[in-house]
Amino acid sequence: MNKDSLINRNMSEDKLRIDKIKKGTVIDHITEGYALTILNLTGLDESPNLMTIGVNVSSNQFQKKDIIKIEGVFLNETQMQQISILSPNNSISLIENYKVIEKKKVKIPKVIKQLVLCANTTCISNSDEPIDSEFNVLEEKPLKIQCVYCNRMYKLDEITFSSKGKTEKRVKQRIIL
Ligand SMILES: [Zn+2]
Repeated sequence: MNKDSLINRNMSEDKLRIDKIKKGTVIDHITEGYALTILNLTGLDESPNLMTIGVNVSSNQFQKKDIIKIEGVFLNETQMQQISILSPNNSISLIENYKVIEKKKVKIPKVIKQLVLCANTTCISNSDEPIDSEFNVLEEKPLKIQCVYCNRMYKLDEITFSSKGKTEKRVKQRIIL
């Protein structure tokens, strides 16, 4: 067996390991190792629906990726933005009757509102004022964002996410795994 056929065989085995879904969402090309963080942050981990999660799946000869398939679930705008922040190369496919009906390449927004918290305790976005957090995206890969109120800058691993439907404390605890 030559090297090429060996690689092809391994790739098809990888595909087989993750079954097709009838209706729902496939989040593909997730940055290696980020699938579980995405599930936690988006709240998909609390879904009772069938999910298949592939971690460190061979994407090509040199790269690995994570992949999530969720039966019967379509993502909302907030969830897609959260995914784009964590994993800028993602592609999201909507599935009906085992076929892709729509493919989305969700880009990171130029301005991130509400989804991320500023760690600066004296920042006005953390005060009692009714001001939502807001960050300008300075660089996408690797991610670098800046608070519009206090100008503090954050890299991806320094970000504290907020999440609707989950308490802030719980998200913080679960993201730092
Ligand atoms: Zn700030």
